[in-house]
Amino acid sequence: MTIASFLNVCIDRLPSNESLLFPASHCASCNRRLAIKDLIPVFSYLWLRGRCRYCQAPIPRRILWVEISTGVLFGYLYWHYGLSIELAVAAFYCCLFITLMVIDLEHGLILNKIVYPAAAVALLISAFLPPSKVAHLSGEAASLVNTYLPQPGIVQAVIGGGTGLVLLLLIVLISRGGMGWGDVKMAALIGIVTGYLILVALLLAVIFGGIVAVILLTLKIKKRKEGIPFAPFLSLATIITLLYGSDILNWYLGLF
Ligand SMILES: [Zn+2]
Repeated sequence: MTIASFLNVCIDRLPSNESLLFPASHCASCNRRLAIKDLIPVFSYLWLRGRCRYCQAPIPRRILWVEISTGVLFGYLYWHYGLSIELAVAAFYCCLFITLMVIDLEHGLILNKIVYPAAAVALLISAFLPPSKVAHLSGEAASLVNTYLPQPGIVQAVIGGGTGLVLLLLIVLISRGGMGWGDVKMAALIGIVTGYLILVALLLAVIFGGIVAVILLTLKIKKRKEGIPFAPFLSLATIITLLYGSDILNWYLGLF
């Protein structure tokens, strides 16, 4: 739960170049320093009815949603992975992609200062824990990879990252607008995280993005010319791929 609060601090401060550690948590409106009792995840928000204790300014509802969804997701990850090193790595990646998702939703930005260090850390992790292990690659998908593709984790990560980079670059060049360099860099990061499952992740992201775009256009919430941020779909697709990419690939291979 403390982690969810830290994610909210990252989301608030990274886009505006504020330090993550100083000053201590404060109200964005009256700058009053918040007490421990104001910082208990979910409960403080509900108890204060979403307003600052001192100046009554509304606290962004996102604070609550990030706390709840991070909590639920962590519970689910624990159930899925059990207590293991894979759990720790998957939890780290989920935090990373939730942060990227919310910052892109709120600011339309994919920050280099998150993507570059994250890519370096993910490469380092891949050397010790191959992407195929984090995603529990199994069944026919695993035997295909074991037969035809290089095994070392760092090689999986580099091939995945390169594939993500090239594919998104092609999409950006063909679609001209809509997506940008931030999405290309993020696809490379996702490739490092998911390895060969990058293909599943990108396909899911395009499907999710397509469905939501059609809904927004049909309901006339967005006009055709307006861009829709793509990082939220990339993030969601990555988390689902880590958990179920292997199952999705096995289902697909079973069709033939
Ligand atoms: Zn206040």
